[in-house]
Amino acid sequence: MARIYPKAFLGNKIVPLKQASLGVATSAVLYGLSVYTVFPVSMTKKGPAAFRLTDHLTRLRNSARIIGIDTFEKRWGLTAFEKAVAATVRANRIREDVFVRATVHVSAQLPGTRSRGLETTLSIFVYEATPILPTRGARVKTSVWRRIPDYAIPSRAKVNGAYVNSVLAKQDALDSGYDDCIFLDVAGHVCELSAANIFIVRDGTLITPGASSDILEGITRRTVLELATDFGLPVVERTIDLTELYVADEVFASGTSAFVAPISEVDARQIGDGASGPVTKRLREAHRHVLHGESTQYEAFLTYLVKK
Ligand code: PMP
Repeated sequence: MARIYPKAFLGNKIVPLKQASLGVATSAVLYGLSVYTVFPVSMTKKGPAAFRLTDHLTRLRNSARIIGIDTFEKRWGLTAFEKAVAATVRANRIREDVFVRATVHVSAQLPGTRSRGLETTLSIFVYEATPILPTRGARVKTSVWRRIPDYAIPSRAKVNGAYVNSVLAKQDALDSGYDDCIFLDVAGHVCELSAANIFIVRDGTLITPGASSDILEGITRRTVLELATDFGLPVVERTIDLTELYVADEVFASGTSAFVAPISEVDARQIGDGASGPVTKRLREAHRHVLHGESTQYEAFLTYLVKK
């Protein structure tokens, strides 16, 4: 398990991680009624830099909006949010790449099964950036569990309670000896992994399920699409059949905690020659450069939190 740094942000101040807790009667605990995001803070020549902070805050607000959590957006503007993130990173004196998890908890006690007009509490903590997928090529299997559809619990909203769906699918994959799962939607089309988006390469075209395919609209996914477009690669967002994974030249996952990770095997079928393909390699490298401030073209994606 990844090491968590000792200082966290809770409500309006930095506290020891051990004291950063919520009551057992809050909706956050009772119903998993919290929304969250995780973003990388990477070491650069100019100090630790957060990746696409504005986009992460926007997605956090959108998640809250979808669920009907309406007291967060009013209280937390970009400047205040950035200050809280910077204070947490500074308090922990980080010297390595980390992930930062920011969560909006519905902290009202026993309000029943509703979301509007309720007290919310922001928490932020930092942990070491351990990748969730093996970098040598992940072995994945189609899940027996289907992705929750937009009309049940929207995958577009990064809501804590919905992650039971990911836990079921990931545990099933682990129990079967795989690294992760492929989620299908109720019609049998490919959605994503338990906590990462999916891409395939077929005949030189990069393909990923569209935003209305019951996926989380991943910020790494968006970055990969932008990088690939800049490389001049044809890029298509469309429905993907399961069997297209079996015959793809390359399959890879994208996510904050997966980075760009090659997938070497799907349902006991080897992908390509089993090694990371050239498109995957190129995108993985480019993404790494962007995170670490080694790409002037994408400098605007970085927010420097502790100025050197
Ligand atoms: N899908 C799911 C279900 C996820 O939990 C994640 C991780 N946040 C992703 C995709 C990737 O999103 P991002 O690139 O924003 O980390």
